[in-house]
Amino acid sequence: MRDRIEKGSCFCGKVMAEAHGEPFWVNYDHDDDCRKALGSPLTIWIGYKQEQIRFGGQAPKTFSKTSGVVRSFCEECGSSIGYVDEGLANEYWLTIGFMDHPERFKPAVHAFWSMKLPWVEFADDLPRLRRYSRPRDPAIGDPSSRMKDDR
Ligand SMILES: [Zn+2]
Repeated sequence: MRDRIEKGSCFCGKVMAEAHGEPFWVNYDHDDDCRKALGSPLTIWIGYKQEQIRFGGQAPKTFSKTSGVVRSFCEECGSSIGYVDEGLANEYWLTIGFMDHPERFKPAVHAFWSMKLPWVEFADDLPRLRRYSRPRDPAIGDPSSRMKDDR
């Protein structure tokens, strides 16, 4: 059986990627940094190991505001492509909107439920986690320490 190959492309098509094999994680994300970065009330991230991703076409542009986190986007059309995080070693997270077949990626969990916009409602029975849905290396620091109400 051939490995699963999923293709991704930005809105203008200059940045392209192939993801080989299965993603290890797919999650909703309601956090406010991603909201600003993507211009969307929430997103869905698809987690791959970095060696599973091969970029083609134009290289993505990168931007970092949060320590340890580097986001990538198309410098031509502005589409969000993904991010890497020093606290999540060797992982590459793609936005679901970058994928050419987003319907194939079903999220398993809600992350940063504590930051969900109040009028966004879900009827699913997925776990609703206050913060990260993945273990992140605490030595890198915690971008979510900006949260004042940290229960
Ligand atoms: Zn583009």
